Amino acid sequence: IEQTLSIIKPNAVAKNAIGAILSRFEAAGLQIVAARMLHMSKEQASAFYGIHQGKPFFDELVAFMTSGPVMVQVLEGEDAVAKNRDIMGATNPANAAPGTIRADFADSFTENAAHGSDAADTAAVEIAFFFPEGVCP
Ligand code: ATP
Ligand code: MG
Repeated sequence: IEQTLSIIKPNAVAKNAIGAILSRFEAAGLQIVAARMLHMSKEQASAFYGIHQGKPFFDELVAFMTSGPVMVQVLEGEDAVAKNRDIMGATNPANAAPGTIRADFADSFTENAAHGSDAADTAAVEIAFFFPEGVCP
């Protein structure tokens, strides 16, 4: 059993898609074991996306991620990291398969509706970032 960090990004929150997106995770057998809503500060977003610092899209990414509230959740299940990324679709929504979250809710490469951890080890770091107190036992 694996856990992954999922973020419903500001553009998807703004279009009232939280419920629709969480439903997709649950329908795929992923369990929501922690959740919180917050409006990230510039410092929080820069730290969360620290590995992208210096890349051409970094400033736009931080501006977008701080433009409104996000919904953050920990998803648990078999192969949760890969399953979540399948459900989200390709990072660039132009390449996202029909029926994926990004195909249905993205507005641009940056405003691509959802985040999901890319590996189990980064998931652990990202989960601790948003849930330092841990998740439900
Ligand atoms: P995420 O980390 O959000 O789940 P990812 O792992 O598929 O997505 P990363 O390469 O980690 O993609 O990029 C993080 C985020 O930065 C992307 O989800 C997207 O919002 C933005 N981004 C990445 N590459 C670009 C780009 N070339 N142009 C614009 N925005 C980008
Ligand atoms: Mg990533």
